[in-house]
Amino acid sequence: MIHGKNRIGFSLSSEGSKTFKAFNPSTLQELDESFFSATENEIELAMQKTWKAYSVYKHFSGKQKAAFLDAIADEIMNLGDALIERVAAESGLSEARIISERGRTIWQLQIYSRLLQEGSWVEATIDNAIPNREPLPKPDIRKMLRPVGPVVVFSASNFPLAYSTAGGDTASALAAGNPVIVKAHASHPGTNLLIAEAINAAALKTGMPDGVFSTLYDGGFEVGIGLVKHPLTKSVGFTGSLAGGMALYNAARERNEPIPVFAEMGSLNPIILLPEKLKNDFTEIGKILASSVATGMGQFCTKPGLMAAVGEEGLDNFIQVLSSQIQLINPTPLINKNIWESFHQKRSKLLEEKGVKLIIETTDTNEKLKGRPTLALVDFETYRKNPFFCEEVFGPFSLIIKCKDMKELESFSTLLKGQLTVSIFATEKEWQENVKLVQILEDKAGRIIFNGPPTGVEVCSSIIHGGPFPASTDGRFTSVGPEAIKRFVRPVAFQNAPQHLLPDELKDGNPLKIWRKVDGVFGNS
Ligand code: NAP
Repeated sequence: MIHGKNRIGFSLSSEGSKTFKAFNPSTLQELDESFFSATENEIELAMQKTWKAYSVYKHFSGKQKAAFLDAIADEIMNLGDALIERVAAESGLSEARIISERGRTIWQLQIYSRLLQEGSWVEATIDNAIPNREPLPKPDIRKMLRPVGPVVVFSASNFPLAYSTAGGDTASALAAGNPVIVKAHASHPGTNLLIAEAINAAALKTGMPDGVFSTLYDGGFEVGIGLVKHPLTKSVGFTGSLAGGMALYNAARERNEPIPVFAEMGSLNPIILLPEKLKNDFTEIGKILASSVATGMGQFCTKPGLMAAVGEEGLDNFIQVLSSQIQLINPTPLINKNIWESFHQKRSKLLEEKGVKLIIETTDTNEKLKGRPTLALVDFETYRKNPFFCEEVFGPFSLIIKCKDMKELESFSTLLKGQLTVSIFATEKEWQENVKLVQILEDKAGRIIFNGPPTGVEVCSSIIHGGPFPASTDGRFTSVGPEAIKRFVRPVAFQNAPQHLLPDELKDGNPLKIWRKVDGVFGNS
């Protein structure tokens, strides 16, 4: 049942008078249920409960936390069609896409469960004492990763499941041993509520402390800012726009106690097309990139927003294939009114900029909240002088940059700001001749893709989904894959600690049989 109330640990609360409703982008109708924006008092209650839960939850074993994550996955599956229907109503996404995103969400939870059951992720490191070392004895020092404290999570509208309430941020923060408070996304509050109920049921079933998970609603930004500024918040996970991420990052800077804000923001995911490759394979590349730009109405954080190539015959042929493929794509609704407005405004503004040539746009379907797949072209010199071309147009839009020669293509690469991904298409010969170009790109993105599109982010240990600013506020970390847990932990060293006071991971005899580094040597015995 969609009750619309804030969840504060195991309790529900609706003490405020401000409410808001979700909106169906396919029918253009408001959905029936009202959601209560949290009050200041509810923020305080949630934070106090979360803090209390932290003192208990942080000592839970990996196996206990794994059982919790597995139970969340089970409870999400138990929601069945009710979840799929609610996501569809709040996002306009297709059933197939929602089912696939649910699968990814479950897999993310399971990946952390496995990580916890295996246990070696804590990076246990032991340097045994040498009492008779000269001139001074060496102490016994043991180090491992420990939780940081309550994490506030902000979800993104374009992934109502995988980057939302029980998405990667929540899963990694809980796996690390931190309670979580999710600020529900105003565009899918009912989805948030159903998932929150699933998490709550899992917490009760697996004996988690009251306050291990809470979620608060808000039709505006006050609750989110209040949570970030609260002294008991110790870290923030955000997925969304550059403007939203920076607003929260700046709010955190106003705190007396600085805390990390891991904001994963927009990206242009540039594509660099080398001439010989484009001449040989323009048809295949055109098809791949058309799908990458327009599938899901371009509402992926890895949609290619820029494509740069040398203006030769291959480029003309490529543009033809790309255009004809994009025209085949049937426009569907964008995820919400804000995204629709922002897409159409930015698209129109960009097309009006000096030197921009429209290549193709599908029929105008503005009145139906639909996307409008669009391609435009600009030469490198014009691009270089206008910073607006470096802003994300979230939705089915891509700008092609026509370079005079390889030197301009290299300058294009050098000028790029931080990105989630950069793709480069080249022949074997071109790889050999352009080592420097690849080296330039290494400084620009979290993931460099060779002869492939950026969309389709594999959830695995080696993935990096993050990048230098402005793609994220901290390019040292990934927000996808098991390594994302590192955002919500800090290393703690125990010096000369009695055995019974040490966590099991650091005890003599290695009771958990995890991989550890003991006196400089890795082993699990
Ligand atoms: P968004 O508008 O930034 O919203 C994300 C969350 O932040 C929402 O809860 C929103 O509150 C809150 N928020 C936004 N502005 C705020 C402000 N000024 N102060 C306080 N809170 C604020 O992003 P979105 O539209 O949901 O998502 C689309 C964007 O996410 C795209 O740019 C896309 O590229 C990016 N994205 C990035 C990744 C990645 O991994 N890097 C993944 C997916 C999406 P409300 O709920 O009240 O709006």
